[in-house]
Amino acid sequence: MLHVVGNACLDTTFRLARHPRAGETLNAESASRDYGGKGLNQAVAAVRSGAETMFWTAVGVDAAGDDIAALIEIEFADLASITRLPHATDQSAILVSVEDGDNRIVTAAACAETYDPLVMTDLATRLRPGDILLMQGNLSTERTIACLEAARRAGARALLNPSPIATMAAMPLALVDVLVLNRPEAEALTGESDPARAGQELIKRGAGSVVITLGAAGVIHVTAAGSMSVEASSVEAVDTSGAGDVFCGVLAGLMAQGRTIGDSLPFAATAASMSVQRPGTHASCPSRTELRELLD
Ligand code: ADP
Repeated sequence: MLHVVGNACLDTTFRLARHPRAGETLNAESASRDYGGKGLNQAVAAVRSGAETMFWTAVGVDAAGDDIAALIEIEFADLASITRLPHATDQSAILVSVEDGDNRIVTAAACAETYDPLVMTDLATRLRPGDILLMQGNLSTERTIACLEAARRAGARALLNPSPIATMAAMPLALVDVLVLNRPEAEALTGESDPARAGQELIKRGAGSVVITLGAAGVIHVTAAGSMSVEASSVEAVDTSGAGDVFCGVLAGLMAQGRTIGDSLPFAATAASMSVQRPGTHASCPSRTELRELLD
C-alpha cells in the first residue's frame, strides 16, 4: 500500500493584459480553476499508475473543500482520509500578465499548516511493513518528520519530495529512503551544481538514495555506489508545471507495486514527459488508461 500524505488546494488562474496597479480593478482576459497541491497531484498520479493508494489530506468546511472531497472520492473511492478543518480550504490566486508572462501568486495554506496526520487520523496504525509513504514539503517540518519516523517504526519505506524546500534545512535525511528533488532544489540544498555530486552530498547527510530530475535532460539516480541516468522523451513542452509531481507519484506508485527504483524511473520520466505536452498542473496528469498503456 502507498500512503501519500500532503496538501490539496484549489488554484484559480487569471490571465490579464497586465497586472493591476494599487486600487485598480481590471477585467481578466480569462479565468480558470484547477485542483492542485503537491500532495493531491502526486497522489492522483500514483493511483492512476495502478497502485493501491491511500491519500491523507486536510481541507476546510467550505465549498472549495466539498469540491476537492468530490474529486478525491472519484480518484480514490474509499481509500482517502480527508480531515475537515475550521479554516478556508487552501487555495491560490495566480495572476498571469499576458504582456510579459510574469506571474504573481497569493496562497492561503492554513489547512496544510495546521494538519497533523498523526494526531488527527489513524495513519500511524495504517502504516505496515513493506508499505511506502510519500510526502512533500507543504506540511510543517515537525509533522513531516513525525510521519517519516512513524514510517520507519512501522517498517515502511519513505520517499520525500522536499518541495518547497524553504523549511528543509532541519530535515533529518536519515529518515528518508529515497529523496526526490529537481536540479535547482538539489543545488539550493547542497551548493553543488553537478547533480551527481549534489546527490552524493545528500547521501552523506543521510538520504538512502537520491533521485534528481533534470527537466528535458531526464533524471539521475544517485546511490552510494554510483549514479544512473535516464533520458526524458524528446517532446514539445507546452507547460512544465506539475511534471515533477507526476514523476514522484508514478515513481512511488510503481515502487508500491513491487518494482525497483531502476525499473520505475523510465516509466516515471515518460509519464512526466506526457504531462509537459499539455497545459495545467493537475489537468495535465496522464489518465489511468494512458498510464496503463505506457506500462503494458
Ligand atoms: P519539476 O517539475 O519539479 O521542476 P523537472 O522540470 O525536473 O521537475 O521535470 C520532472 C520530469 O519531467 C523530468 O525528469 C522529465 O522526465 C520530465 N520533463 C520535464 N520537462 C521536460 C521536457 N521539456 N521534455 C521532456 N520531459 C520533461
